[in-house]
Amino acid sequence: MGSYNHKIDSSDAALPLGKIVCIGRNFAEHVRELKNKIPDEPILFLKPSTSLFPLSEQITIYKSFGKCHFETELSVLIDKKLTGCSKREALNAIAGIGLSLDLTYRDLQAELKSQGLPWEKAKAFDNACPTSTFISADKFYDLDNICFKMYKNGQMQQSANTSNMIWKIAELMCYASRFFTLLPGDIFLTGTPSGVGSLQNNDKLLVEIPGFLDVSTTVAVK
Ligand code: ZN
Repeated sequence: MGSYNHKIDSSDAALPLGKIVCIGRNFAEHVRELKNKIPDEPILFLKPSTSLFPLSEQITIYKSFGKCHFETELSVLIDKKLTGCSKREALNAIAGIGLSLDLTYRDLQAELKSQGLPWEKAKAFDNACPTSTFISADKFYDLDNICFKMYKNGQMQQSANTSNMIWKIAELMCYASRFFTLLPGDIFLTGTPSGVGSLQNNDKLLVEIPGFLDVSTTVAVK
């Protein structure tokens, strides 16, 4: 877990590290690039708190697990308990907006999926969720109109706006909270746009919410 703590506007947030609730297939173009079907309902999975890692620190991945893909996702830090919540309650529980990488050992995930097995080994491993500092939510005028981007070695790989999500942030939180109570310190990852790809040794990554946040990091493959 390294030195990761939740931070809001660069100060330590008084929130524990909790679970990470993730959404699969929330941008139509990404669904198509992986040749998946557009789902009828959100696809949920979890990462444990041990997958949190400061996005500003070097990311280490392991060749022995096969290809590792980056998925750049808007992340939402929660500061209230939510069970079967309304949209209004969901919006009121958002403490901050940041960026995370949903690191995925894609070959391993494909193998697990083909056997109908859970994919945690491919997505929930230690440090599988490098996460930025959060920007307090009240700084955003409209959570359903936030642009975010990812550059690899100077080239833009991913660019999206939360307005293009199949399910919007508050809707996802309501849906998830019917199954999993969300607790203060939990994080919600809202799905990757298209443009995912594999990480190589010495890659330089830059993720940004233009005007709010930018974080650079590097990759080491061992
Ligand atoms: Zn993802």
